[in-house]
Amino acid sequence: MAGLLAARVLTAHFERVTLVERDPFPTEPVFRPGVPQSPHLHVLWTRGREIVEALLPGLEDTLRTAGAEEVRVPADVLWLTSAGWRERFDVTRLLTFSRPLLDWAVRNRLTGPPDGARKPIDILDGHRVTGLVPRGRDVAGVVLGDEGELHADLVVDATGRGSRAPEWLARLGHPAPPETRVDPLLGYASRCYAIPPGFAPGWKALYIQADPPATRRTGGLFPQEGGRWICSLSGAGRDYGPAEETAFLEFAKGLRSPVLYEAIRDAEPLTPIVAFRRTANHRRHYDRLPSWPRGFVVTGDAACAFNPIYGQGMSVAAVAALTLDRCLRDARPGFERRFQRGAARSAAGAWLVATGEDLRYRETVAAPVRLRTRAINAYVDEVVATANVDPLVCERLVHVLALMAAPTSLFAPAVLARVAANRVRRPAPIPMPTRPS
Ligand SMILES: Cc1cc2nc3c(=O)[nH]c(=O)nc-3n(C[C@H](O)[C@H](O)[C@H](O)COP(=O)(O)OP(=O)(O)OC[C@H]3O[C@@H](n4cnc5c(N)ncnc54)[C@H](O)[C@@H]3O)c2cc1C
Repeated sequence: MAGLLAARVLTAHFERVTLVERDPFPTEPVFRPGVPQSPHLHVLWTRGREIVEALLPGLEDTLRTAGAEEVRVPADVLWLTSAGWRERFDVTRLLTFSRPLLDWAVRNRLTGPPDGARKPIDILDGHRVTGLVPRGRDVAGVVLGDEGELHADLVVDATGRGSRAPEWLARLGHPAPPETRVDPLLGYASRCYAIPPGFAPGWKALYIQADPPATRRTGGLFPQEGGRWICSLSGAGRDYGPAEETAFLEFAKGLRSPVLYEAIRDAEPLTPIVAFRRTANHRRHYDRLPSWPRGFVVTGDAACAFNPIYGQGMSVAAVAALTLDRCLRDARPGFERRFQRGAARSAAGAWLVATGEDLRYRETVAAPVRLRTRAINAYVDEVVATANVDPLVCERLVHVLALMAAPTSLFAPAVLARVAANRVRRPAPIPMPTRPS
């Protein structure tokens, strides 16, 4: 996704854009090995949705025609937060679809007939990049194994978590970037089910969150194209979502509410259960390097990957595409470093949300938790509890999760006042809300 969106942006700045992909691209919206996470629940939060539609107008129509479902958040979602059930206020909207459908639709838009704002791009699929072509300590293209070299004015590394950019940069004489890892030891297991005919419980999606450190299991059940649900179960602290049938259902039963288990118990499974465990928050601080080559940038998961449970990766990649566009418009030399700094800044909020939450688990592998993080988490607990019953605080919190506002917005006076009032009132926990408020 980071590569596709970066390629779209580059068409406005370069005569020719080539997308190199190691997989052969399928012609249908189906799984491919290069995106092994694609069978799991993928939510494109509002900020990402808006950027992707702005870059590729008409994409949402394609997704809707293919069966993507509109879900109001949280109005259409039964959402059990760490502080109890959330009232079903109407804050924002998601389109829900499978990741292969999104990738296919974006790819088709990108390679379809060009419009005034966009030149066509060349697709070089089935080709693996194995290194960078040096020009002194700068970058002049990529090496395609034994097949030769592809020369370019700018190379964008969007090869995901497995990026070998640190090693490639070292060969050019640049230092390795400092890295930060916060690993909640979390594993997903996912399966699709047919939505039973006539099923009308008054919600479209379920989100049952963990309550760390007491409980570590999360479950999501969201509609997708083709009249099916995707059910993703995840557990932190090595309580991994299991890929075996009975254990999968038992895991679902062990969530903090039985509502998800009850929905899938008798539903028809459409796919095998698949598991995925490469979920650590992992940041490579390219923005802090003392030297940086001309003609090269790193974006998406290759620079900053998140625990996926918070649904941020694709939206952060979309924001990075806009940052790249901005840096290229400002044609001064050194745009590459400005991009790395800008992308790091715009990922900082999502990083804070994901790692702040993950540090609540006792098993999380990270540097010792600082007092400041504990204090912020204590305040966030109060925000979550207030957001469950207060429409304004709910809106502010969802806007942060949807990357529409910075986490600092939760410290605005209006939020602080409502959080304080809620703390004094301490309303009784609300029962499972069956209808949108
Ligand atoms: C289980 C799970 C659930 C997730 N859920 C969400 C969610 O709900 N919402 C969300 O926004 N994000 C989610 N994410 C994160 C999201 O998948 C990524 O952030 C997003 O795909 C952006 O990653 P990327 O494009 O940088 O890398 P990737 O998606 O990993 O893509 C990298 C691409 O580079 C290709 N490639 C790799 N090496 C080479 C090479 N040497 N030569 C040529 N091609 C190469 C790969 O084949 C692949 O196509 C989830 C992730 C996981 C693991």
